[in-house]
Amino acid sequence: MNKFEQLGLNESLLKAILDLGFENPSEVQEKAIPLLLEKDTDMVALAQTGTGKTAAFGFPLIQKIDADNRNTQALVLSPTRELCLQITNELKNYSKYEKGINVVAVYGGASITEQARDIKRGAQIIVATPGRMQDMINRGLVNIKNIDYCILDEADEMLNMGFYEDIVSILSDTPDQKSTWLFSATMPQEVARIAKQFMSDPVEITVGAKNSGSATVSHEFYLVNARDRYEALKRLADANPDIFSVVFCRTKRDTQAVAEKLIEDGYSAAALHGDLSQAQRDGVMKSFRGRQIQMLVATDVAARGIDVDNITHVVNYQLPDEIETYNHRSGRTGRAGKLGTSIVIVTKSELRKISSIERIIKQKFEEKSIPSGIEICEIQLLHLANKIKDTEVDHEIDNYLPAINNVLEGLSKEELIKKMVSVEFNRFIAYYKKNRDISSQAGERRERSDSEPREFNNNGAVRYFVNIGSRDNFDWMTLKDYLKETLDLGRDDVFKVDVKEGFSFFNTDPEHTEKVMEVLNNVQLEGRRINVEISKNDGGGRRDHNGRSGGGRSSGPRREGSGGGSFGPRREGSGGGGFRSDRNAAPREGGFRSDRNSSAPKREGGFRSSTPRTEGSSDRAPRRSESFGDSPRPRRPRRD
Ligand code: ADP
Ligand code: MG
Repeated sequence: MNKFEQLGLNESLLKAILDLGFENPSEVQEKAIPLLLEKDTDMVALAQTGTGKTAAFGFPLIQKIDADNRNTQALVLSPTRELCLQITNELKNYSKYEKGINVVAVYGGASITEQARDIKRGAQIIVATPGRMQDMINRGLVNIKNIDYCILDEADEMLNMGFYEDIVSILSDTPDQKSTWLFSATMPQEVARIAKQFMSDPVEITVGAKNSGSATVSHEFYLVNARDRYEALKRLADANPDIFSVVFCRTKRDTQAVAEKLIEDGYSAAALHGDLSQAQRDGVMKSFRGRQIQMLVATDVAARGIDVDNITHVVNYQLPDEIETYNHRSGRTGRAGKLGTSIVIVTKSELRKISSIERIIKQKFEEKSIPSGIEICEIQLLHLANKIKDTEVDHEIDNYLPAINNVLEGLSKEELIKKMVSVEFNRFIAYYKKNRDISSQAGERRERSDSEPREFNNNGAVRYFVNIGSRDNFDWMTLKDYLKETLDLGRDDVFKVDVKEGFSFFNTDPEHTEKVMEVLNNVQLEGRRINVEISKNDGGGRRDHNGRSGGGRSSGPRREGSGGGSFGPRREGSGGGGFRSDRNAAPREGGFRSDRNSSAPKREGGFRSSTPRTEGSSDRAPRRSESFGDSPRPRRPRRD
């Protein structure tokens, strides 16, 4: 018997669940569903974000609703419009094999008369934001006097957002004998107060430790000077070519400004905040879900509850004022059992907050260094090589091959590879070669006792590059173990292990270098020879001694005369580079989008790489690999 069947769900829901692809109920579902199906009870359920609360109330709700009765039987209150639409959509999915159930979303910023009309047609379930719901009640457009179920979803956040009065008023418009189900990630006093005031003898369900962060999220912080915040963000993006992230800022203004800068610098980014029109917000969310946007820069309110799968990183560009909010932010990643990383860019004066957060989430942060330019170049280069390898050839290209072969005739394979990679790369390297190391200086770092990990004290260590990575099913822990075992080294001898897709970095003390090079270079992993090299970068965390660091803010590799603020690598000829909240509506770069060929993995689609493009190239395909001027060759040609 299917696990969901055991919970008591009926045929039509089981069918819908099959379509959703859920195999096993999550913990909160396992606990809540049988209880809610069995009897009419009030319930308080506490579970972190991403634990499947929507289905925990949605499945039993759908089963309990009388589809033959057109009257409104249930009201779901949720904090934001986005969430409201998301829940509505989910409930529609759950009930798709149950004839006659209508779910209507009610939220601000859209026509109230249309929403009222939809309700009049017979909506057994209304999903609403408190403000608009109150408005509808005041205007007599909705009747919730006879509902059987009221669900408060993300109750903590609704109260956070100041909806207390609205909620109280709405609830007093509902009958006493209804069941109230309250779902929340946390239980601040205000939520407890609502529960006490409006619920009778609720069953309590708690999943996981209260307030603790999700186990699937790892937490990292990067210590920088305040003026380097943006540069740090850029480098983190460059060091994670496949990043798919939400970047949190504290204010709408910062949100807008950071998004604009990222776009100007050639990244696929967009802002999401309350000052955008609904249409703009919808456009942004659509592009984000469609992976045309890699970095969604958002305020806490706007991003709350957004359920987009496979977000790789949450970036705290600035820490939130309320530490509690950190949980909500980091809960955007590591969802549905996937792993995610929550990154904090932090200045020295904010370091104390890290410790406070650690206490709340009951997890330790790992302190990391902003990758150096050389490290980023290595990452990008290898990413490019892997991408070339993985690209499926579209045979449309065959017609052009004779002409191309003509041009390239006489070049050896080796030369061709070098040139091809340089096309993409020269400018990238030129940019980072010029730029100082921005990772925090040793003296400014958080004091660490001797018992703390070696990673934070890598003076004099040797950094290596090795051609195995997450593709070979390593993460940093398993790779560290593998290296220690293979090299017969002690517990702390391998450190600062940083695993990328097709390759990784790690450090040892110099005394082990000979052994590392000898042993590892003669090892095979599943038939493939391991290649290890000493990396040119120092593993981060140490000051750049080249004396070029005094110049303050680093400027991007723009050509003369491009004017304006100078941040990061930027394409030439991208003119204006203003904020575009919807790339689909406003293609840049001479009229076409930079989406790569359709066979590329979807999440990569449209990544505006930070590589600049050349003038005069607009008659060619919109690829990110365009040619740049002369620069030194990539530092790490692969030896085979
Ligand atoms: P919460 O409201 O607790 O933050 P959601 O209800 O938004 O979480 O669910 C988070 C994600 O997990 C969604 O993408 C949802 O489709 C998925 N999900 C929920 N339940 C299951 C399940 N039993 N199996 C697999 N995925 C699930
Ligand atoms: Mg939810």
